[in-house]
Amino acid sequence: MEIKNARVLWQAIQGELQIIIPKPSYETWIKDTRALSFNGNILSIEVPNAFVAEMLEHRMHSMISDAAEKINGSQIEVVFSPVVLENSDMSDVNDKADILESYISNEKSLHLGKIKKSSVNYRYSFETFIVGKSNELAHAASLAVSNKPGQLYNPLFIHSGVGLGKTHLLHSIYHILSKNGLNPVFSTTEDFTNEYISSIREGKTDSFRDFYRNADAILLDDIQFIIGKDQTQEGFFHTFNAIHLAGKQIVISSDRSIYSLKAMDDRITSRLSGGLVVDIQPPEYETRLSILQSKISQSGIVFPDDAVQFMANHGFRSVRELEGCLNRVIAYVEIVNSEISVDLVRSITSDLIRTRRIDSISETSILEAVAKYFAIERDSIKGRQRDRITAHARQITMFLLREETNLPLSSIGKFLGGKDHSTVLHACNRISLKINSDSVLRNDLMNIRQNFEYQPA
Ligand code: ADP
Ligand code: MG
Repeated sequence: MEIKNARVLWQAIQGELQIIIPKPSYETWIKDTRALSFNGNILSIEVPNAFVAEMLEHRMHSMISDAAEKINGSQIEVVFSPVVLENSDMSDVNDKADILESYISNEKSLHLGKIKKSSVNYRYSFETFIVGKSNELAHAASLAVSNKPGQLYNPLFIHSGVGLGKTHLLHSIYHILSKNGLNPVFSTTEDFTNEYISSIREGKTDSFRDFYRNADAILLDDIQFIIGKDQTQEGFFHTFNAIHLAGKQIVISSDRSIYSLKAMDDRITSRLSGGLVVDIQPPEYETRLSILQSKISQSGIVFPDDAVQFMANHGFRSVRELEGCLNRVIAYVEIVNSEISVDLVRSITSDLIRTRRIDSISETSILEAVAKYFAIERDSIKGRQRDRITAHARQITMFLLREETNLPLSSIGKFLGGKDHSTVLHACNRISLKINSDSVLRNDLMNIRQNFEYQPA
Protein backbone atom coordinates (compact mmCIF):
# COMPACT_ATOMS: atom_id res chain seq x y z
CA MET A 1 0.00 0.00 0.00
CA GLU A 2 1.48 3.35 -1.00
CA ILE A 3 0.30 6.32 1.05
CA LYS A 4 1.71 9.67 0.11
CA ASN A 5 -0.11 11.84 2.60
CA ALA A 6 1.88 12.15 5.83
CA ARG A 7 -1.15 12.54 8.06
CA VAL A 8 -2.97 9.53 6.64
CA LEU A 9 0.17 7.43 6.71
CA TRP A 10 0.86 8.28 10.35
CA GLN A 11 -2.74 7.54 11.27
CA ALA A 12 -2.47 4.10 9.76
CA ILE A 13 0.79 3.50 11.60
CA GLN A 14 -0.77 4.70 14.83
CA GLY A 15 -3.59 2.25 14.29
CA GLU A 16 -1.07 -0.54 13.96
CA LEU A 17 0.81 0.62 17.05
CA GLN A 18 -2.38 0.77 19.05
CA ILE A 19 -2.67 -2.96 18.61
CA ILE A 20 0.81 -3.85 19.75
CA ILE A 21 1.50 -1.29 22.46
CA PRO A 22 -0.25 -1.45 25.83
CA LYS A 23 -2.89 1.23 26.13
CA PRO A 24 -1.31 3.39 28.85
CA SER A 25 1.96 3.53 26.93
CA TYR A 26 0.21 4.27 23.68
CA GLU A 27 -1.69 7.13 25.30
CA THR A 28 1.40 8.53 26.93
CA TRP A 29 3.77 8.39 24.04
CA ILE A 30 2.02 8.05 20.71
CA LYS A 31 -1.40 9.62 20.97
CA ASP A 32 -0.44 13.30 21.14
CA THR A 33 1.79 13.26 18.11
CA ARG A 34 1.24 14.78 14.70
CA ALA A 35 2.64 14.08 11.26
CA LEU A 36 4.48 17.03 9.70
CA SER A 37 5.69 15.74 6.39
CA PHE A 38 6.56 12.70 4.32
CA ASN A 39 9.42 13.33 1.93
CA GLY A 40 11.48 10.71 0.17
CA ASN A 41 11.22 7.99 2.73
CA ILE A 42 11.38 10.23 5.77
CA LEU A 43 8.27 10.61 7.84
CA SER A 44 8.58 13.53 10.19
CA ILE A 45 6.53 13.51 13.39
CA GLU A 46 6.02 16.29 15.89
CA VAL A 47 5.87 15.26 19.54
CA PRO A 48 4.98 17.23 22.69
CA ASN A 49 8.51 17.48 24.12
CA ALA A 50 12.09 16.27 23.99
CA PHE A 51 11.43 13.60 26.53
CA VAL A 52 8.82 11.94 24.37
CA ALA A 53 11.07 12.31 21.32
CA GLU A 54 13.88 10.63 23.17
CA MET A 55 11.60 7.87 24.31
CA LEU A 56 10.22 7.16 20.85
CA GLU A 57 13.61 7.41 19.23
CA HIS A 58 15.49 5.17 21.59
CA ARG A 59 13.11 2.82 23.24
CA MET A 60 10.31 2.26 20.79
CA HIS A 61 12.15 2.79 17.59
CA SER A 62 12.18 -0.75 16.28
CA MET A 63 8.51 -1.24 17.06
CA ILE A 64 7.61 1.92 15.21
CA SER A 65 9.81 1.14 12.20
CA ASP A 66 8.32 -2.32 11.96
CA ALA A 67 4.78 -0.96 12.06
CA ALA A 68 5.68 1.70 9.50
CA GLU A 69 7.22 -0.82 7.17
CA LYS A 70 4.19 -3.04 7.48
CA ILE A 71 1.85 -0.22 6.51
CA ASN A 72 4.03 1.33 3.86
CA GLY A 73 5.21 -1.88 2.28
CA SER A 74 8.82 -0.73 2.32
CA GLN A 75 11.11 0.74 4.93
CA ILE A 76 10.64 4.33 5.98
CA GLU A 77 12.57 6.38 8.41
CA VAL A 78 10.48 7.94 11.14
CA VAL A 79 12.00 10.99 12.82
CA PHE A 80 10.63 12.80 15.86
CA SER A 81 10.99 16.44 16.71
CA PRO A 82 9.69 18.14 19.83
CA VAL A 83 7.51 21.23 19.63
CA VAL A 84 9.31 24.19 21.06
CA LEU A 85 8.70 24.14 24.75
CA GLU A 86 7.34 27.14 26.54
CA ASN A 87 5.97 26.93 30.03
CA SER A 88 6.65 23.44 31.17
CA ASP A 89 6.46 23.07 34.89
CA MET A 90 8.18 20.60 37.14
CA SER A 91 5.13 18.62 38.16
CA ASP A 92 4.55 17.67 34.57
CA VAL A 93 8.14 16.56 34.29
CA ASN A 94 7.76 14.53 37.43
CA ASP A 95 4.78 12.70 36.01
CA LYS A 96 6.67 11.91 32.88
CA ALA A 97 9.62 10.53 34.81
CA ASP A 98 7.29 8.20 36.69
CA ILE A 99 5.61 7.15 33.51
CA LEU A 100 8.98 6.52 31.95
CA GLU A 101 9.96 4.24 34.77
CA SER A 102 6.77 2.25 34.64
CA TYR A 103 7.00 2.12 30.88
CA ILE A 104 10.47 0.70 30.95
CA SER A 105 9.30 -2.21 33.02
CA ASN A 106 6.31 -2.70 30.71
CA GLU A 107 8.49 -2.58 27.70
CA LYS A 108 10.53 -5.50 28.87
CA SER A 109 7.58 -7.81 28.83
CA LEU A 110 6.40 -6.30 25.59
CA HIS A 111 9.56 -7.15 23.76
CA LEU A 112 10.20 -10.58 25.14
CA GLY A 113 10.65 -13.08 22.42
CA LYS A 114 11.10 -10.35 19.88
CA ILE A 115 14.52 -9.19 20.87
CA LYS A 116 17.06 -11.85 20.18
CA LYS A 117 17.88 -13.52 23.41
CA SER A 118 21.16 -12.57 25.00
CA SER A 119 21.48 -9.59 22.72
CA VAL A 120 24.68 -7.75 23.31
CA ASN A 121 24.79 -4.09 24.17
CA TYR A 122 27.16 -1.93 22.16
CA ARG A 123 27.28 0.75 24.82
CA TYR A 124 28.98 -1.72 27.10
CA SER A 125 32.55 -1.60 25.87
CA PHE A 126 36.01 -1.19 27.35
CA GLU A 127 36.02 2.35 25.99
CA THR A 128 33.09 3.35 28.17
CA PHE A 129 34.24 1.44 31.23
CA ILE A 130 35.83 3.71 33.83
CA VAL A 131 38.66 2.07 35.68
CA GLY A 132 39.28 2.85 39.34
CA LYS A 133 40.70 1.06 42.35
CA SER A 134 37.48 -0.80 42.93
CA ASN A 135 37.38 -2.54 39.55
CA GLU A 136 40.97 -2.44 38.35
CA LEU A 137 41.63 -6.14 38.70
CA ALA A 138 38.41 -7.25 37.07
CA HIS A 139 39.06 -4.85 34.22
CA ALA A 140 42.65 -6.00 33.69
CA ALA A 141 41.67 -9.65 33.76
CA SER A 142 38.83 -9.04 31.30
CA LEU A 143 41.17 -7.26 28.90
CA ALA A 144 43.69 -10.05 29.20
CA VAL A 145 41.23 -12.80 28.33
CA SER A 146 39.86 -10.72 25.47
CA ASN A 147 43.25 -10.54 23.87
CA LYS A 148 44.48 -14.02 24.75
CA PRO A 149 41.34 -16.12 25.12
CA GLY A 150 41.87 -19.53 26.64
CA GLN A 151 45.53 -18.90 27.31
CA LEU A 152 45.80 -17.00 30.57
CA TYR A 153 42.99 -17.26 33.04
CA ASN A 154 40.52 -19.98 32.33
CA PRO A 155 37.87 -19.84 33.59
CA LEU A 156 37.69 -16.21 34.65
CA PHE A 157 35.20 -15.72 37.44
CA ILE A 158 34.01 -12.16 38.17
CA HIS A 159 31.88 -11.46 41.20
CA SER A 160 30.44 -8.36 42.87
CA GLY A 161 27.28 -6.91 44.29
CA VAL A 162 24.62 -5.80 41.81
CA GLY A 163 25.09 -2.85 39.48
CA LEU A 164 28.87 -2.72 39.66
CA GLY A 165 29.81 -3.56 36.07
CA LYS A 166 29.95 -7.34 35.62
CA THR A 167 27.59 -7.43 32.67
CA HIS A 168 29.34 -4.40 31.20
CA LEU A 169 32.66 -6.25 31.30
CA LEU A 170 31.24 -9.45 29.81
CA HIS A 171 29.81 -7.51 26.89
CA SER A 172 33.12 -5.69 26.45
CA ILE A 173 34.94 -9.01 26.20
CA TYR A 174 32.37 -10.19 23.68
CA HIS A 175 33.02 -7.19 21.43
CA ILE A 176 36.78 -7.68 21.35
CA LEU A 177 36.52 -11.40 20.68
CA SER A 178 34.11 -10.92 17.81
CA LYS A 179 36.19 -8.08 16.45
CA ASN A 180 39.09 -10.51 16.36
CA GLY A 181 37.08 -12.87 14.20
CA LEU A 182 36.15 -15.33 16.92
CA ASN A 183 32.73 -16.69 17.67
CA PRO A 184 31.92 -15.96 21.32
CA VAL A 185 28.58 -16.79 22.88
CA PHE A 186 27.12 -14.52 25.52
CA SER A 187 24.25 -15.87 27.53
CA THR A 188 22.53 -15.04 30.74
CA THR A 189 22.34 -18.05 32.99
CA GLU A 190 18.56 -17.70 32.90
CA ASP A 191 18.52 -18.10 29.10
CA PHE A 192 21.03 -20.88 29.34
CA THR A 193 18.80 -22.68 31.80
CA ASN A 194 15.66 -22.20 29.74
CA GLU A 195 17.34 -23.34 26.54
CA TYR A 196 18.75 -26.36 28.28
CA ILE A 197 15.42 -27.35 29.79
CA SER A 198 13.58 -26.98 26.50
CA SER A 199 16.29 -28.86 24.63
CA ILE A 200 15.65 -31.75 26.98
CA ARG A 201 11.92 -31.45 26.54
CA GLU A 202 12.23 -31.40 22.76
CA GLY A 203 14.87 -34.10 22.67
CA LYS A 204 17.42 -31.74 21.18
CA THR A 205 20.16 -31.84 23.77
CA ASP A 206 22.68 -32.60 21.02
CA SER A 207 22.10 -29.36 19.22
CA PHE A 208 22.18 -27.49 22.51
CA ARG A 209 25.57 -29.01 23.29
CA ASP A 210 26.87 -28.44 19.76
CA PHE A 211 25.84 -24.82 19.85
CA TYR A 212 27.93 -24.14 22.93
CA ARG A 213 30.76 -26.46 21.94
CA ASN A 214 31.15 -24.75 18.59
CA ALA A 215 31.67 -21.41 20.25
CA ASP A 216 35.18 -20.07 20.66
CA ALA A 217 34.36 -18.68 24.09
CA ILE A 218 31.41 -18.64 26.42
CA LEU A 219 30.43 -15.72 28.56
CA LEU A 220 27.83 -16.68 31.11
CA ASP A 221 26.22 -13.91 33.13
CA ASP A 222 24.76 -14.34 36.62
CA ILE A 223 25.64 -17.93 37.40
CA GLN A 224 23.92 -17.63 40.79
CA PHE A 225 20.67 -18.42 38.94
CA ILE A 226 21.82 -21.96 38.59
CA ILE A 227 21.74 -22.58 42.33
CA GLY A 228 19.23 -25.23 43.21
CA LYS A 229 18.66 -26.28 39.60
CA ASP A 230 20.29 -29.67 39.66
CA GLN A 231 19.46 -30.69 36.14
CA THR A 232 20.84 -27.50 34.67
CA GLN A 233 23.94 -27.80 36.78
CA GLU A 234 24.52 -31.18 35.27
CA GLY A 235 24.15 -29.77 31.77
CA PHE A 236 26.34 -26.85 32.63
CA PHE A 237 29.03 -29.07 34.07
CA HIS A 238 29.32 -31.20 30.93
CA THR A 239 29.19 -28.25 28.57
CA PHE A 240 31.73 -26.45 30.69
CA ASN A 241 34.12 -29.40 30.69
CA ALA A 242 33.91 -29.90 26.95
CA ILE A 243 34.65 -26.25 26.28
CA HIS A 244 37.36 -26.07 28.87
CA LEU A 245 39.08 -29.18 27.58
CA ALA A 246 39.06 -27.71 24.10
CA GLY A 247 41.06 -24.79 25.53
CA LYS A 248 38.33 -22.26 24.88
CA GLN A 249 37.80 -19.27 27.12
CA ILE A 250 35.08 -19.31 29.75
CA VAL A 251 34.05 -16.18 31.63
CA ILE A 252 31.45 -16.33 34.34
CA SER A 253 29.88 -13.63 36.47
CA SER A 254 28.06 -13.97 39.74
CA ASP A 255 26.59 -11.69 42.34
CA ARG A 256 27.81 -14.04 45.05
CA SER A 257 31.36 -14.85 45.95
CA ILE A 258 32.58 -18.28 45.11
CA TYR A 259 32.44 -19.20 48.80
CA SER A 260 28.78 -18.37 48.93
CA LEU A 261 28.00 -20.55 45.95
CA LYS A 262 28.32 -23.49 48.30
CA ALA A 263 24.88 -24.76 47.42
CA MET A 264 26.22 -25.54 44.00
CA ASP A 265 27.62 -28.80 42.80
CA ASP A 266 31.11 -29.15 44.29
CA ARG A 267 32.51 -30.17 40.94
CA ILE A 268 31.43 -26.82 39.53
CA THR A 269 32.75 -24.73 42.40
CA SER A 270 36.08 -26.45 42.25
CA ARG A 271 36.31 -25.93 38.48
CA LEU A 272 35.46 -22.28 38.92
CA SER A 273 38.07 -21.69 41.58
CA GLY A 274 40.64 -23.41 39.39
CA GLY A 275 40.88 -20.32 37.19
CA LEU A 276 41.18 -16.69 38.20
CA VAL A 277 38.68 -15.25 40.63
CA VAL A 278 38.34 -11.45 40.68
CA ASP A 279 35.85 -9.16 42.33
CA ILE A 280 34.55 -5.64 41.86
CA GLN A 281 34.12 -3.51 44.96
CA PRO A 282 31.72 -0.58 45.22
CA PRO A 283 33.31 2.47 43.57
CA GLU A 284 35.04 4.94 45.87
CA TYR A 285 34.45 8.65 45.59
CA GLU A 286 37.11 9.27 42.90
CA THR A 287 35.71 6.55 40.67
CA ARG A 288 32.14 7.71 41.20
CA LEU A 289 33.25 11.14 40.15
CA SER A 290 35.00 9.89 36.99
CA ILE A 291 32.03 7.74 36.04
CA LEU A 292 29.72 10.73 36.35
CA GLN A 293 32.10 12.94 34.40
CA SER A 294 32.40 10.44 31.60
CA LYS A 295 28.64 9.97 31.29
CA ILE A 296 28.12 13.71 31.45
CA SER A 297 30.56 14.36 28.65
CA GLN A 298 28.72 11.81 26.50
CA SER A 299 25.47 13.65 27.15
CA GLY A 300 26.86 16.95 25.92
CA ILE A 301 25.22 18.78 28.82
CA VAL A 302 27.20 21.19 30.94
CA PHE A 303 27.26 20.44 34.65
CA PRO A 304 28.99 22.72 37.13
CA ASP A 305 31.62 20.91 39.20
CA ASP A 306 29.82 21.33 42.49
CA ALA A 307 26.70 19.66 41.10
CA VAL A 308 28.73 16.67 39.93
CA GLN A 309 30.48 16.48 43.29
CA PHE A 310 27.14 16.66 45.02
CA MET A 311 25.99 13.55 43.15
CA ALA A 312 29.27 11.70 43.68
CA ASN A 313 29.10 12.60 47.34
CA HIS A 314 25.77 11.07 47.87
CA GLY A 315 27.60 7.84 47.83
CA PHE A 316 25.20 5.70 45.86
CA ARG A 317 26.37 2.21 46.49
CA SER A 318 26.27 0.99 42.92
CA VAL A 319 27.08 2.43 39.54
CA ARG A 320 23.55 1.64 38.45
CA GLU A 321 22.07 3.84 41.18
CA LEU A 322 24.52 6.58 40.35
CA GLU A 323 23.57 6.41 36.68
CA GLY A 324 19.88 6.45 37.57
CA CYS A 325 20.37 9.65 39.50
CA LEU A 326 22.29 11.29 36.67
CA ASN A 327 19.79 10.19 34.02
CA ARG A 328 17.01 11.69 36.04
CA VAL A 329 18.80 15.04 36.10
CA ILE A 330 19.58 14.90 32.39
CA ALA A 331 15.99 14.08 31.49
CA TYR A 332 14.74 17.05 33.50
CA VAL A 333 17.22 19.45 32.09
CA GLU A 334 16.51 18.40 28.54
CA ILE A 335 12.86 19.18 28.97
CA VAL A 336 12.97 22.21 31.17
CA ASN A 337 16.11 23.63 29.67
CA SER A 338 17.26 25.18 32.90
CA GLU A 339 20.75 25.72 34.26
CA ILE A 340 22.08 22.99 36.45
CA SER A 341 22.96 23.82 40.04
CA VAL A 342 23.40 21.92 43.26
CA ASP A 343 19.96 23.08 44.38
CA LEU A 344 18.34 21.86 41.20
CA VAL A 345 20.05 18.48 41.47
CA ARG A 346 19.05 18.22 45.10
CA SER A 347 15.43 18.97 44.37
CA ILE A 348 15.17 16.67 41.37
CA THR A 349 16.81 13.75 43.09
CA SER A 350 15.57 14.34 46.61
CA ASP A 351 13.57 11.15 46.64
CA LEU A 352 16.55 9.10 45.46
CA ILE A 353 18.73 10.68 48.09
CA ARG A 354 16.05 10.25 50.67
CA THR A 355 15.72 6.57 49.89
CA ARG A 356 19.41 6.21 50.24
CA ARG A 357 19.36 7.95 53.56
CA ILE A 358 16.53 5.81 54.82
CA ASP A 359 18.13 2.76 53.38
CA SER A 360 21.50 3.65 54.80
CA ILE A 361 23.61 1.91 57.31
CA SER A 362 24.05 3.27 60.73
CA GLU A 363 27.50 3.76 62.19
CA THR A 364 26.62 1.24 64.84
CA SER A 365 25.71 -1.48 62.39
CA ILE A 366 29.00 -1.01 60.57
CA LEU A 367 30.88 -1.27 63.84
CA GLU A 368 28.79 -4.27 64.78
CA ALA A 369 29.45 -6.05 61.47
CA VAL A 370 33.21 -5.56 61.73
CA ALA A 371 33.33 -6.62 65.36
CA LYS A 372 31.32 -9.72 64.62
CA TYR A 373 33.42 -10.64 61.60
CA PHE A 374 36.67 -10.46 63.56
CA ALA A 375 35.04 -11.88 66.68
CA ILE A 376 36.12 -9.02 68.92
CA GLU A 377 34.25 -6.61 71.16
CA ARG A 378 32.89 -3.36 69.76
CA ASP A 379 34.48 -1.55 72.65
CA SER A 380 37.94 -2.74 71.78
CA ILE A 381 37.58 -1.23 68.30
CA LYS A 382 36.62 2.01 69.99
CA GLY A 383 39.43 1.65 72.50
CA ARG A 384 43.20 1.93 72.29
CA GLN A 385 44.28 -1.70 72.03
CA ARG A 386 47.06 -2.17 69.51
CA ASP A 387 47.21 -5.89 68.85
CA ARG A 388 47.25 -6.77 65.18
CA ILE A 389 43.65 -7.94 64.77
CA THR A 390 42.13 -5.05 66.70
CA ALA A 391 44.21 -2.46 64.89
CA HIS A 392 43.29 -4.01 61.55
CA ALA A 393 39.59 -4.17 62.45
CA ARG A 394 39.72 -0.53 63.57
CA GLN A 395 41.19 0.59 60.26
CA ILE A 396 38.61 -1.36 58.33
CA THR A 397 35.85 0.20 60.41
CA MET A 398 37.15 3.68 59.67
CA PHE A 399 37.41 2.90 55.98
CA LEU A 400 33.88 1.49 55.79
CA LEU A 401 32.44 4.36 57.78
CA ARG A 402 33.90 6.77 55.28
CA GLU A 403 32.75 4.77 52.27
CA GLU A 404 29.27 3.93 53.42
CA THR A 405 28.14 7.01 55.30
CA ASN A 406 28.40 10.69 54.64
CA LEU A 407 30.11 11.36 57.94
CA PRO A 408 33.08 13.73 57.97
CA LEU A 409 36.39 12.29 59.18
CA SER A 410 36.17 14.13 62.47
CA SER A 411 32.80 12.59 63.32
CA ILE A 412 34.09 9.15 62.44
CA GLY A 413 36.96 9.73 64.85
CA LYS A 414 34.61 10.92 67.53
CA PHE A 415 32.31 7.94 67.07
CA LEU A 416 35.26 5.60 67.47
CA GLY A 417 36.17 6.78 70.93
CA GLY A 418 37.69 10.16 70.20
CA LYS A 419 40.35 9.44 67.58
CA ASP A 420 41.46 12.49 65.68
CA HIS A 421 40.71 13.18 62.09
CA SER A 422 44.25 12.56 60.82
CA THR A 423 44.23 9.07 62.34
CA VAL A 424 41.04 8.29 60.44
CA LEU A 425 42.46 9.69 57.22
CA HIS A 426 45.62 7.65 57.63
CA ALA A 427 43.61 4.46 58.18
CA CYS A 428 41.41 5.07 55.15
CA ASN A 429 44.40 5.70 52.95
CA ARG A 430 46.17 2.60 54.19
CA ILE A 431 43.20 0.39 53.41
CA SER A 432 42.67 1.97 49.98
CA LEU A 433 46.31 1.36 49.15
CA LYS A 434 46.20 -2.27 50.18
CA ILE A 435 42.93 -3.16 48.54
CA ASN A 436 44.44 -4.03 45.21
CA SER A 437 47.34 -6.12 46.34
CA ASP A 438 45.67 -7.87 49.22
CA SER A 439 43.05 -10.41 48.25
CA VAL A 440 42.43 -11.42 51.86
CA LEU A 441 41.50 -7.83 52.65
CA ARG A 442 39.20 -7.66 49.64
CA ASN A 443 37.48 -10.80 50.73
CA ASP A 444 37.13 -9.46 54.28
CA LEU A 445 35.52 -6.28 53.01
CA MET A 446 33.16 -8.16 50.76
CA ASN A 447 32.02 -10.46 53.55
CA ILE A 448 31.63 -7.68 56.08
CA ARG A 449 29.56 -5.67 53.65
CA GLN A 450 27.29 -8.64 53.14
CA ASN A 451 26.56 -8.58 56.86
CA PHE A 452 25.54 -4.97 57.05
CA GLU A 453 22.08 -4.47 58.29
CA TYR A 454 20.46 -1.66 56.41
CA GLN A 455 17.95 0.34 58.33
CA PRO A 456 14.44 -0.48 57.26
CA ALA A 457 12.67 2.10 55.16
P1 ADP B 1 26.14 -5.81 37.16
O1 ADP B 1 26.13 -6.73 35.99
O2 ADP B 1 27.36 -5.99 38.03
O3 ADP B 1 24.88 -5.84 37.97
P2 ADP B 1 26.15 -3.76 35.13
O4 ADP B 1 27.30 -4.22 34.30
O5 ADP B 1 24.80 -4.02 34.61
O6 ADP B 1 26.27 -4.32 36.62
O7 ADP B 1 26.35 -2.20 35.41
C1 ADP B 1 25.28 -1.35 35.80
C2 ADP B 1 25.37 -0.04 35.05
O8 ADP B 1 26.50 0.68 35.48
C3 ADP B 1 25.53 -0.23 33.56
O9 ADP B 1 24.82 0.78 32.89
C4 ADP B 1 27.02 -0.05 33.32
O10 ADP B 1 27.30 0.46 32.04
C5 ADP B 1 27.39 0.94 34.39
N1 ADP B 1 28.76 0.75 34.86
C6 ADP B 1 29.18 -0.15 35.79
N2 ADP B 1 30.50 -0.01 36.02
C7 ADP B 1 30.93 0.98 35.21
C8 ADP B 1 32.21 1.59 34.99
N3 ADP B 1 33.30 1.19 35.65
N4 ADP B 1 32.28 2.60 34.10
C9 ADP B 1 31.19 3.02 33.44
N5 ADP B 1 29.95 2.49 33.60
C10 ADP B 1 29.82 1.48 34.48
MG1 MG C 1 24.56 -7.97 35.43
